[in-house]
Amino acid sequence: MRIIQIGPPGSGKATQAKRIEEKLNIPHISSGDMLREAVANETPLGKEAKLYMTKGALVPDNLVIEMIVERIAQPDAREGFLLDGFPRTLPQSKALDKALLATNVKIDYVLLIQVPDENIIERNTGRRIDLKTGKIYHVKFDPPPAEIASRVIQRDDDLEETVKYRLEKYRADTEPLIPYYEEQDLARKVSGVGSLEEVKGKLFKILGVS
Ligand code: AMP
Repeated sequence: MRIIQIGPPGSGKATQAKRIEEKLNIPHISSGDMLREAVANETPLGKEAKLYMTKGALVPDNLVIEMIVERIAQPDAREGFLLDGFPRTLPQSKALDKALLATNVKIDYVLLIQVPDENIIERNTGRRIDLKTGKIYHVKFDPPPAEIASRVIQRDDDLEETVKYRLEKYRADTEPLIPYYEEQDLARKVSGVGSLEEVKGKLFKILGVS
């Protein structure tokens, strides 16, 4: 199954993606994770992407498109994949369609996780990441255990001003993708408000798994 997951920053996308990945045994391809890895490894792509990411701005389409098109051509993605964080702009959607057409495959579902702005701000600014395991915590909803608390960090792009900017960018750049996928009858809207289990249940139902 080939799935795209779209949702504002902090909608729980990454958490749900991990669950879908395990359930369907397809790779979870996160453009944000791939870019952060490139930044950490100081690759040419990483060095350029960093200039945009620290401001919460989008990395230019051509760089991200090339990265993802190469990734979905890998053997582990042949039977399916879950794209998380990509596409984020209409040119990215169109470039993805073109790449898929060339290999004669199609997207099965576009999952749209919807969360109001006020919930997004609270969720993002409270988010903390354990540098050692990559596990994500939240200061209010899922506080890290005492032995881990000293090593969790807040990502630069989870600072309040940056979150607000990213949200504006999401509404302006990414929401236009919704009618694009609705026209193709691929879009499935799910409210991202509620417990992670509830949201997971709704997503699994759409995908026909339990
Ligand atoms: P994320 O982890 O998905 O929130 O992504 C973190 C950051 O990586 C974003 O704020 C952007 O700077 C960059 N990024 C991730 N995916 C994309 C994309 N599809 N297009 C452009 N920039 C992206």
